[in-house]
Amino acid sequence: MGILEVKGVGKRFGGLQALGDVNLSVQENTVHAIIGPNGAGKSTLLNCLVGKLIPDTGSVTFDGQSVLGRKPHEINQMGISRVFQTPEIFGDLTVMENVLIPCFAKRDGSFRMHAYESIEQEPDILQKAEQMLIDVNMIDKRHMNGSSLSRGDKRRLEMAMCLVQDPRLLLLDEPTAGMARADTNNTIDLLKEIKEQRDITMAIIEHDMHVVFSLADRITVLAQGTPLVEDTPDNIKGHPKVKEAYLGE
Ligand code: ADP
Ligand code: MG
Repeated sequence: MGILEVKGVGKRFGGLQALGDVNLSVQENTVHAIIGPNGAGKSTLLNCLVGKLIPDTGSVTFDGQSVLGRKPHEINQMGISRVFQTPEIFGDLTVMENVLIPCFAKRDGSFRMHAYESIEQEPDILQKAEQMLIDVNMIDKRHMNGSSLSRGDKRRLEMAMCLVQDPRLLLLDEPTAGMARADTNNTIDLLKEIKEQRDITMAIIEHDMHVVFSLADRITVLAQGTPLVEDTPDNIKGHPKVKEAYLGE
């Protein structure tokens, strides 16, 4: 049994069958990559895991408990955090404030803006947020506004906002999309560090094969809403079906 079990998940948008019959088992403490061409249904699948979409068919369980029918914040409290395809940070808040928000959200299930005003009375949370910023090398930027960060730093901050919740499962939707090579390599290093330092499972959607092959323990190839093949990176590299469907050969 994997920490995440997806069974027979289907999702239709009007006449479009975005997900057909998805079965996926993600084992604890592994990095599981989901690859596939544009429109294959990768983001739709992720949305079904975090309560943003409700599948038409099938089941999704995390650590043996169904996530279907739960609200995104409830799924978050179960131990699943998500990095979005475009960074979702608060541009007019500081780096520190951005990291404090998910701390409160995890503890209280919600966030009240005036939580900042009483932050001195929350030494544990403050310390946790500070340590997180040290871990991702952003403590020097704690007073900067989110909107003034580079794209790479926005991504890094978003990662920190997820990790500060100590998730058991981290979902990443194209974490290096739009990044220059140097930022991509920094992100790979950061994710490798996270993998080594923590008991964490990651499911990562990624276009960049360099990222996938640097990080993944298992790879599922999704094509037209259905898993085509699942295997180790070495086996995926030479797989004829993958070359045909994904690389267009
Ligand atoms: P991927 O992330 O693999 O590129 P998506 O999951 O975003 O693919 O999309 C899968 C298919 O579903 C695409 O054809 C896309 O246009 C369609 N789709 C995704 N979200 C919606 C939506 N909210 N409404 C209608 N169609 C959608
Ligand atoms: Mg997508």
